[in-house]
Amino acid sequence: MAINTGGVDISVVGGGVIGLTSAIALAEAGHRVRVVSRDASDGTTSAVAGGLCWPYRIRPYERAVQWSVRSFHVLAALAERPQETGARMVTGTMTEAPDAGAPQAPDGGADDELAAWYTAVPGLRRASAAELPEGYTAGWRARTPLVDMPAHLRYLEQRLTAAGGTVERREVTSLAEAGRAADVVVNCSGLGARALVSDPDVHPVQGQLVIVENPGIEEWHVSADAGSTDTTYVLPQPYGLVLGGTARENAWSREPDPAVAEAIVARCARRFPELARARVLAHKVGLRPARPAVRLTVERLPDGTPCVHNYGHGGAGVTVSWGCADEVLRSVRALREGDGPLGR
Ligand SMILES: Cc1cc2nc3c(=O)[nH]c(=O)nc-3n(C[C@H](O)[C@H](O)[C@H](O)COP(=O)(O)OP(=O)(O)OC[C@H]3O[C@@H](n4cnc5c(N)ncnc54)[C@H](O)[C@@H]3O)c2cc1C
Repeated sequence: MAINTGGVDISVVGGGVIGLTSAIALAEAGHRVRVVSRDASDGTTSAVAGGLCWPYRIRPYERAVQWSVRSFHVLAALAERPQETGARMVTGTMTEAPDAGAPQAPDGGADDELAAWYTAVPGLRRASAAELPEGYTAGWRARTPLVDMPAHLRYLEQRLTAAGGTVERREVTSLAEAGRAADVVVNCSGLGARALVSDPDVHPVQGQLVIVENPGIEEWHVSADAGSTDTTYVLPQPYGLVLGGTARENAWSREPDPAVAEAIVARCARRFPELARARVLAHKVGLRPARPAVRLTVERLPDGTPCVHNYGHGGAGVTVSWGCADEVLRSVRALREGDGPLGR
């Protein structure tokens, strides 16, 4: 990858899916990019994600759908090289809450907020009655990217390095510190933004998963349960079948709860009875970086260094990652073109 000498020095805080995709977009556009991450990639929330490309638990939906559509196409292209990238195209069914009145998205958002998504996903269609689980009356069938996140994060790090970027394992205590040797700071610290930029709006939505041996399920299945914030899902990954899930607002623990795990398996086994006996391979817990709205904006730090914030992607960071990365790149371009050498 050619490095354009006209690039600027950029410090990206965060080495999850949001930080790495932003860093790649910037490095491949010719900037000199350094990622600073407190955690190794396998210790991030991104590594826990089930990896389905579908907008879920993220606001505002209108922007999220635009970002998701862009990511869909990037991930679909990466899915042509699944061994290398961790992305695959997999068919599945998204069912809506039964008896919920108006059609609903899985997190209770109105279905029409996702209308642009339904239009944009190639081949997406209404599920037939035979394709729906018992008790459900509506849903969608689609072939979407499903991403093995630990493998994808490794791929992203390698791609960043190939574009001349670096990853440093270090905690920063302020964005000013991160920006000391940089022309621009990009803040992709996820839930870490709560402390890093004193943003109380970003908060955890804890999610627990159980990974079991796959008895032969090849499609993904997601069902919203009426009257519950939990969503039942089954995602076939190369490392096992991912069973989910939970969504606990403001719960901070990363410790799997055995009772919750049992309840997840029982819910999934109502749909696929063979799962009741499936061997458990692992338990996982992650904290979604939720926010009333994703913060993807530019501000100046007290010393004048421009900062592009890109955090608060809730339950859809994988889904929107490449769309948001494009927007970060556009913001940096606008800073350069708008007011000279980044206004300093
Ligand atoms: C159970 C579960 C299932 C999910 N399933 C899906 C799914 O199927 N599809 C989907 O799209 N999304 C899913 N998500 C959501 C997705 O995981 C998140 O939206 C996404 O991982 C957020 O990415 P991020 O890079 O912002 O945050 P993170 O992955 O948490 O990364 C934050 C980074 O910032 C670094 N950092 C923080 N503070 C500092 C600091 N002070 N100094 C240095 N570094 C710092 C961390 O070390 C880390 O590298 C799921 C989440 C959970 C919990």
